Amino acid sequence: MSQRFVRTVLGPVPERELSFTDAHSHLWIDPVPAATSAGPVLNDEEVILRGLAAYRQAGGRAIVDCQPSGCGRDANRLSWLAALSNIAIIACTGFHRRLYYAPDNGLWAMSAREAGDFFIDEIQHGLLETRTGHRLVRPGFIKIAAEKSLEESPQALFEGAAAACLATGLAIEMHTERGAAAEEFLAYFVGEGVPANRLVFCHMDKRPDPGLHRELAEAGILLEYDTFFRPKYQPNHYLWPLLSQMLDAGYGTHVALATDMASINMWQQPGPVAFLTYIKPCLETQGVDPNTLQQLLGANITGRLAIQEQ
Ligand SMILES: [Zn+2]
Repeated sequence: MSQRFVRTVLGPVPERELSFTDAHSHLWIDPVPAATSAGPVLNDEEVILRGLAAYRQAGGRAIVDCQPSGCGRDANRLSWLAALSNIAIIACTGFHRRLYYAPDNGLWAMSAREAGDFFIDEIQHGLLETRTGHRLVRPGFIKIAAEKSLEESPQALFEGAAAACLATGLAIEMHTERGAAAEEFLAYFVGEGVPANRLVFCHMDKRPDPGLHRELAEAGILLEYDTFFRPKYQPNHYLWPLLSQMLDAGYGTHVALATDMASINMWQQPGPVAFLTYIKPCLETQGVDPNTLQQLLGANITGRLAIQEQ
C-alpha cells in the first residue's frame, strides 16, 4: 500500500507518524476589527508556546487548527509555532461563520464557482498570507461552518467547498451549530457527490442523540466531540455516556476527540495538554483498549486528513 500523508504547515508528514492529534482546536486568532460580532482572539505567543511545550512533553504530536482566512488566521504564525514547538499543525482553507468576518469581506459575495476556485487556489498554491513570507504553507483540509439549517447557511460557499474537496481529495471539517440539521447537511453533500468519508462534523456532542450519531457514523461521517472542558454542556452527563454508547455499538473508528481551545483562558487552564493528561486517563479508567484510544485521540482524524501526495 502506498504511503499517505497529512499536509502540515511545515510540509507533508506520513499519517502513521502523527499519533496523538487534537482533532479540532485553535492555535492563533488575530482580532478582526470590523467583524460583525467580536469573535475569539488568541494571540499571546508566550501562553501558546508554553501550552504547546506541555502538550509535546505529554506525548502530543499534532493539532488541527480550524481558523480559515479572513477571520483571524495567520498561517505565518502557525508555521513559526510549529517550528518552535515541534508540534505538527494542520491549517485550513475554507470559511467560518459570517459573523466573525468584516461585512465587506469578498468571500460573502462569491459565486459557488469563485469560492471553489479560491479554496482550490489556496490548496494548490498556498495560503494567501504565506505567499510573501519565507515559508509557503499549504492547508491540510477545508474548514466550513454551517448555520442552524442548510437554508440559513451560505450555499454558494458550501458548493465551492464541495468542489474543492472533489478536486483535491482534502477532507471537509464542518462546524455545526450544536449538531443542528446534521442529517440535512449529510444529504446535501452526498447530493453534491462528496463521499461521507470526506466529512468530519464538529461539536456533535452538543446534540447527544445516540440514534442520530449511530446513523451518521453508519453513513461514514467522522463525528468530532469537544465539550470536555465546557461545563455548561455537562460533559459527564452527556458527552461521556454518549461516547461509551458509541464505543459499545462498535463505532470507535467514527469518533474523533478534540479540545476546541478558542480562547487564551482555555489555553491557560486547562491548556491543550489536558487532551493527554485528562481525556486520555479518563478513557483508560473506563477500560477503553489501547487501539481504540489511539483512534479516538488521533488515528481517526489523521486517517481522514491523509491523502496521497503528488
Ligand atoms: Zn473551533
